Amino acid sequence: MLSYQHIYHAGNLADVQKHALLCRMLAYMGQKPKPISYLETHAGRGLYELQSAEALKTGEAAAGIGVAEQWFDEKHPYSQALANVRARHGAGVYPGSPGLAAALQREGDKMHLAELHPQENAALVQAMRGSGAKVHRMDGFEMAMGVCPPTPRRGLILIDPSYEIKSDYNTIPSFIAQLNRKWNVGVIALWYPILVDGAHKDMLAALEAQDLPKVLRHEVRFPPVRAGHRMVGSGMYIVNAPFGLEDEAKWLSGLFSAMK
Ligand code: SAM
Repeated sequence: MLSYQHIYHAGNLADVQKHALLCRMLAYMGQKPKPISYLETHAGRGLYELQSAEALKTGEAAAGIGVAEQWFDEKHPYSQALANVRARHGAGVYPGSPGLAAALQREGDKMHLAELHPQENAALVQAMRGSGAKVHRMDGFEMAMGVCPPTPRRGLILIDPSYEIKSDYNTIPSFIAQLNRKWNVGVIALWYPILVDGAHKDMLAALEAQDLPKVLRHEVRFPPVRAGHRMVGSGMYIVNAPFGLEDEAKWLSGLFSAMK
């Protein structure tokens, strides 16, 4: 039974790193007129109310996007996507990755989103109404294997597990290698937490050992949100990273490093 709910963490500093890179990648890929496919294995509910009791309880959004929003000028695709979603849903919302991707999607682009948790899935269906996205209530790894290579063939998949199921750390490297064999042109973006106990390290070592193409690994550090909190940073491991993403990653690293 899944219990993780992203509403407690939406808009935190990990989301800022992940979502800024995601929006930049989608904007790069959108420069060519050809349509793309956007897939997510672990989509969440797509739209979060930052004044909800859950979001206020942790204060993670206030310490995250509340601080970091000023980093992004109005031309940054992350700012543009945020503005688009707030214009439609109100100033107090924060879009999840499917909401950001929908805001940047163009005519002919396609979306496949998997979310297994029944309530999160129902909320995602609501949030994505009118976007044309196909929302799957099934295991995201299975969805990806079934859909890939997608049509259109150019595209990106975000893999953003909560790592509630500890075996994810062991199974993800071979899943990504298999996905890359099935969909060799696809951009594969994995998010992972940087944890004080180093639980992510073996997964990263296994990924590095696979010799995947055009890899960009980007990690940022930040203070734990609460005393004793295990997460002290956020990472993205990207296969077939779009040209130019390295500059964005370096720029973000500077901003995170300059935080007190
Ligand atoms: N990607 C979202 C974002 O950035 O806005 C956040 C996703 S949240 C970290 C992870 C989600 O994955 C949770 O909503 C959880 O219910 C869902 N989930 C967990 N295991 C899953 C699985 N095997 N397949 C699909 N969804 C799953």
